[in-house]
Amino acid sequence: MMSSTRWKAGALFGLGAGVLAAILGLSGAVEAWQPGATPTWAEPEGCLRPPEDYTRHWVSVGYFNARTLAMLDHAQALYSARGGIIDLRVALTQGSYTGGALAASFGTHDGGGAVDLSVRHPVTWDILWDEIDPLIAALRTAGFAAWLRDTGDLYPDSPIHIHAIAIGDRELSEAARAQIDGTFGYLRGYDGLPRRDGIPVPDRHGGPVLCGWMIEDGWRDLRGERNPLPTPGGTSVVVTALP
Ligand SMILES: [Zn+2]
Repeated sequence: MMSSTRWKAGALFGLGAGVLAAILGLSGAVEAWQPGATPTWAEPEGCLRPPEDYTRHWVSVGYFNARTLAMLDHAQALYSARGGIIDLRVALTQGSYTGGALAASFGTHDGGGAVDLSVRHPVTWDILWDEIDPLIAALRTAGFAAWLRDTGDLYPDSPIHIHAIAIGDRELSEAARAQIDGTFGYLRGYDGLPRRDGIPVPDRHGGPVLCGWMIEDGWRDLRGERNPLPTPGGTSVVVTALP
């Protein structure tokens, strides 16, 4: 709570300086003074640090740790408050700790923090297109790297769903961790899918959401930064000669 308040106070202070500059016509002077004093980042609304509880629970389709479930519940609250109609517990189609049973996930569900959600109406089976962006936004604010995996994204005719990986889960598989900050990762602004040609594909949902608790834990927006070494497990390009 303390840090959250601090970030918001910083953002308000920044706004105040800009407004003051506009009113007084002193923009040059204020700009010259601003850089050292004004944070350039403000925490998005709805951020909440998840509990570090790794107790495993079976929920409908698989095992999830309590941290992941708390994040899902928070995403549900954010999403429902904005009119979302999908019940996330009902929409679960795959959990965590699958131990490599599903080759198409290339191991991202092997450890903790992994979730797949249906985006189809449970009765009519229609794809709920209008729900996808709001749900992904809520999942990202709740601390997941989350993307739509459209029909055929993973293999020919692979089913449409949302794939989410909990940022900071200490039981993530190596492949899941790579989807956070690896070569093709979320924090680099990509879609998380390893590519045979080694060229990452940009995220289709507006880039990563950074919360104060993530930054406190050492995560940061990696867009535009160099990635000198592919993260092990995060790339299909075989690295044979590391410097
Ligand atoms: Zn998945």
